Amino acid sequence: MPDSAPVPAPFPDLVSGDSASLDAAVLDAHFMRLALAQAGQAYAEGEVPVGAVVVKDGEVVAVGYNQPIGRHDPTAHAEIVALRAAAEKLGNYRLPGCALYVTLEPCAMCSGAMMHARLARVVYAASDLKTGVCGSVLDLFAHDVLNHHTDVLGGVLADEASAMLKGFFAERRAAARRNVAP
Ligand SMILES: [Zn+2]
Repeated sequence: MPDSAPVPAPFPDLVSGDSASLDAAVLDAHFMRLALAQAGQAYAEGEVPVGAVVVKDGEVVAVGYNQPIGRHDPTAHAEIVALRAAAEKLGNYRLPGCALYVTLEPCAMCSGAMMHARLARVVYAASDLKTGVCGSVLDLFAHDVLNHHTDVLGGVLADEASAMLKGFFAERRAAARRNVAP
């Protein structure tokens, strides 16, 4: 084996050509795809399809998907489930240096939890015009008094996340129509 054997790229399917350099956008898309897979799990269980992953130093620390119905828990949004699992795993109620990827713009509850956790970064996919507080309804992270730690980026794989949500709600409306049909 020659000394100059190339180091395998960690995500070869995402690397174009022979370049092994992964820029931030490629990594963001990679982790968002993992969050979308979590959203798919929520979908399969009849929950609004939202998924999240927590990442530290390029490694997935924890995952979560939306399951308030299944858990009988109004706080069981994907982000809270993933934050709890990450804090448990790392043995720390604060998660400095961690990034959270979520397929839908976070609500006020989840954004508050992220600030308490001192997350370094939150990356979301689709905007939520009804409950999103990263710019849609409000922008909580823009308040310097509230947010000292967390950078926010939206719109990563937004089309994929929106398509899954739209499909879910269309299916649910169709099912409701079937139930009221004579
Ligand atoms: Zn939430």
